[in-house]
Amino acid sequence: MSNEIALETVSCPRCGSNESEPQFQARDYLYGVPGVFTASRCLVCALTFQNPRPTPETLSLAYPSSYIPHSSDMDEIAPPIDGRVGQVLSNELGYTQFPVPVRRMPKWWQRWKVTVDLIPAFRPDGAVLEIGAATGSRLRGLRALGWSDLHGIELVDSAASLARRSGFDVRTGSVESMIVSIPDSTYDVVIASFVLEHLYNPFEIVKEVTRILKPGGEFLFSTITRDSLDGRLWGKWWAGYDFPRHMVYFDNRDLRGLTSDFQWCAEARHDAIQDYARESWWRLMECRNITDRVVGRLAKTHAGSWISRILAWSRLGCRISVRARKADVQRISA
Ligand SMILES: [Zn+2]
Repeated sequence: MSNEIALETVSCPRCGSNESEPQFQARDYLYGVPGVFTASRCLVCALTFQNPRPTPETLSLAYPSSYIPHSSDMDEIAPPIDGRVGQVLSNELGYTQFPVPVRRMPKWWQRWKVTVDLIPAFRPDGAVLEIGAATGSRLRGLRALGWSDLHGIELVDSAASLARRSGFDVRTGSVESMIVSIPDSTYDVVIASFVLEHLYNPFEIVKEVTRILKPGGEFLFSTITRDSLDGRLWGKWWAGYDFPRHMVYFDNRDLRGLTSDFQWCAEARHDAIQDYARESWWRLMECRNITDRVVGRLAKTHAGSWISRILAWSRLGCRISVRARKADVQRISA
């Protein structure tokens, strides 16, 4: 096999139409995977998705060995075990063994932090599945909060085996092939952190998530939206395209449709200054632009960090976390 990604033309993952038109082409600015990649728009349902896209046989070439989420030093993404979010965890999410808050932060900040970090409401003996469990750092964080029935699915075996070494039931395989064999109403919680946009068909997978959750179960996920401030400002250099790894580029309305079987309980935008820094750097490499110079410099300063935080709290960033709940009683179709 050559080490270049092979691309194939596909139909729209949402409506199945074969009619789509290219919006623009771009490269892999982050890892430098060779190739030119295309964002296309469905002419029937208006979904924006990668088309043509990497074939299943060459998809692994999109994830070089330096791909950060598969490395073992990802513990910084684990849920925060610090006193500042203790109060909201104990009062609203039911954790009893959480340390008493050392320093009181405003309520709204605590709620934002818990939502961003995808921390589910505590259920003693609750069963959790993480889709895209990587090396198990999030599962380790949940174990520290009192969960014990923890499972995962992970595509990359080297990452999954690190998770298994920590004692978790993390199976190696694609989400598509693994999730269909899970019985109905198995889990109390399903977590997917920045996974949906990597899937060929997130619409089918979210249906499967609905099926494997118990009534009243929680689906916690993070993804990206292209109708965010930076999605609009940086166009093809927007970090959310992440060619060739992201397959679908949601806007806010797409996300609501994707999760229409769920009730959204909370949503929060991430403070992700690295996105602004990357986007401005990537555009500067191809065209000189005074705005990108200013943003690139600002991103390295405290002022830049605060601006990025304020943008997140104003719901303007592209990275979103959602806590959604499946209806207690299954909807009866007429
Ligand atoms: Zn479509």
